[in-house]
Amino acid sequence: MGTSCPVPRPWTIIFDGDDTLWLCGEFYRQAEAGCIDLLKSIQFEGTLDKVTLVALQRKIQRALMRRHGFYLTIFEDAWSETYRQLCDRQGQRFDRGVDRELQQMSGAIHAAAYPIFPGVLAMLAELREQGHILHLVTLGDETFQRSKVQRNGLEAAFSQAHVVQHGKGTIMYHLASGQQTMMVGDSLPSDIQPAKRLSIQPVWIDHSNDEWHIGDGSQDLKGVHVIDRVTELPKLIARLDG
Ligand SMILES: [Mg+2]
Repeated sequence: MGTSCPVPRPWTIIFDGDDTLWLCGEFYRQAEAGCIDLLKSIQFEGTLDKVTLVALQRKIQRALMRRHGFYLTIFEDAWSETYRQLCDRQGQRFDRGVDRELQQMSGAIHAAAYPIFPGVLAMLAELREQGHILHLVTLGDETFQRSKVQRNGLEAAFSQAHVVQHGKGTIMYHLASGQQTMMVGDSLPSDIQPAKRLSIQPVWIDHSNDEWHIGDGSQDLKGVHVIDRVTELPKLIARLDG
């Protein structure tokens, strides 16, 4: 231990939004549960389980995202296409009424509240006061994501809030230049993997105990700091700078 007490260098801290700063996935899981019940209640009873259905919907959504980037109705479109593929596989007629009902159920995500997690605004203020530079990088539709930022009073909390449609790597690369930088998020593929590739310090918010969590596959967590909720971040930074 030295005798002097050097002032720690400020971090550039990049935050994910959905399920990092505000509750999000739960509303998607509720909508998914409705879609699954509907599909199972019609012609697919007994043929498909929840995990298979959700895996198929997510695979279709990833393909849509690669083709078009993130857009407002991607979730609904992916459920609609899931239904279409199930019909094709099983030789069933595609029923427009069922499709409309599916779109309505999955579209419920647009009316959800997306409330900010307790203590987040105070934590962000504390980090700003300590001199850290805060950015939000959220993946999704521009208008939809901005509305989540606004309704939670987060516009003034960041140096800048960035909404991206094609992955976070490029913006993370630009924000990280020449700074000690960390990426704080709950998604291993969207937040943690790009951070590792760019030698940005990854901080993973581990929701893997959640009932609806679908694993991201086996991951190398070497060098990744793991916390249970985002408000544990100031303690972690104090430890890293200590
Ligand atoms: Mg997230």
